[in-house]
Amino acid sequence: MKVLKFGGTSLGDAGRMKNVAEIVSRQGRVVVVLSAIAGTTDSLVKIAEAYKHGELNQVKSIVEVLLKHYQRYVDNLFEQESNKQTAMTFVESQFAELVEANIETATSAIEFHILAKGEVISTELFALYCEENGLNAKLLYSLDFLRLTQENSPDEAYLSEHLNRILTGHENTDIFVAQGFICRNAFGEVSNLKRGGSDYSASLFGAAINAQEVQIWTDIDGMHNNDPRFVKNTTPIRELSFDEAAELAYFGAKILHPSSIKPARRKNIPVRLLNTLQPDATGTLISSESNNANIKAVAAKSGITAIKIRSSEMLQAPGFLRRVFEVFELYHTSIDVITTSEVAVSVTIDDTTYLESIVKTLNEFGNVDVDENLSIICVVGDFVAESTGIASRVIRALEAFPIRMISYGGSAHNITLLISEDVRVKALQALHEGLFDV
Ligand code: ADP
Ligand code: ASP
Ligand code: MG
Repeated sequence: MKVLKFGGTSLGDAGRMKNVAEIVSRQGRVVVVLSAIAGTTDSLVKIAEAYKHGELNQVKSIVEVLLKHYQRYVDNLFEQESNKQTAMTFVESQFAELVEANIETATSAIEFHILAKGEVISTELFALYCEENGLNAKLLYSLDFLRLTQENSPDEAYLSEHLNRILTGHENTDIFVAQGFICRNAFGEVSNLKRGGSDYSASLFGAAINAQEVQIWTDIDGMHNNDPRFVKNTTPIRELSFDEAAELAYFGAKILHPSSIKPARRKNIPVRLLNTLQPDATGTLISSESNNANIKAVAAKSGITAIKIRSSEMLQAPGFLRRVFEVFELYHTSIDVITTSEVAVSVTIDDTTYLESIVKTLNEFGNVDVDENLSIICVVGDFVAESTGIASRVIRALEAFPIRMISYGGSAHNITLLISEDVRVKALQALHEGLFDV
């Protein structure tokens, strides 16, 4: 069985949803994971904000625009009048509680509850479309099998038990349709896997059912060697190892949610990135194999904060780093990049929720400097294959930019550099010219 995930742009209008059904119907028995239709989650974020502030008129006006959009979508999607009506009644019912301001859930969960509607609607419409067109599809509710643990990570044992039970209970079904992104928290309230999380859902479902393959269908022909939103002449990469893809996803390649490779890698399930607009294009295959091309791709992640701790105590002091890292553990903050000297250690973080407390605690060890508005640039490839000259090529390409930190050698497939956010786009462009044949 395969898991096929389609993102928002792949469902952008009724024609595209029909195209998705066409792609799905050619693949045998599948689990289809859908995002919300393009633009819906952004609108729901605005609605949630207005709802929390009691701005009901604002909620109503955004809902009105959404309803018009869905009316057009539904009119173009379905042939039968009765299906158009069923679909619109469902869409309206999803928004009714918003405009009437009577959501019955805990205040803390209201935002998640509102954000979940995008995926609930897209999957309902898709399942109904499959039914109208004689496809043997069953709509599943991800809230029934995807939940988070108390530590806010997916409960994979629970997922595997419940999802497999549902699938075996419907042996004659060809197409299972499930919502990406949404889940429950450990207390049973609606939650989600953070923005872009449908990729992660697909990988989790794939691992849970030991899928033959996970396909991530989007609006581009695979992982490119640089960020196509900022750099011209980027090209798709045919093959990536799990580690290379995980680094690129984590360090900013938006095509994949940062955590989406982990579950598939653990079960050695290949992940294929494919383009709904060109279904026959090769795309990118992510697997345990790596071909020996040296530098493969560059990505960048914004919103980085660097913390430098300088202390003479650090000299020849076993256990110093452990004490520093314990502070970050205490405040549930993960560190991305680390560099050290005899008397100082610098680390980067992207979650600044507990920054103040972290700095206060670290002050007990020595002088602490905090530097904000930084970006991590990540250069990924197979550096075992070409062991000389890689770092110098990277640094030469960036010679015009001040580099705050460099980390090389942590693994055989990445170099990470810290630069100011202001020069991120220019640095990506300079690396493209310096590293790839353009
Ligand atoms: P979806 O809605 O299908 O989840 P996303 O917008 O989340 O799609 O991801 C696809 C987009 O990711 C592409 O349109 C592209 O602009 C962007 N992107 C950023 N970095 C890369 C990269 N290295 N390779 C391919 N796409 C990338
Ligand atoms: N709909 C969600 C978002 O826009 C999840 C996703 O698209 O993967 O972030
Ligand atoms: Mg996405």
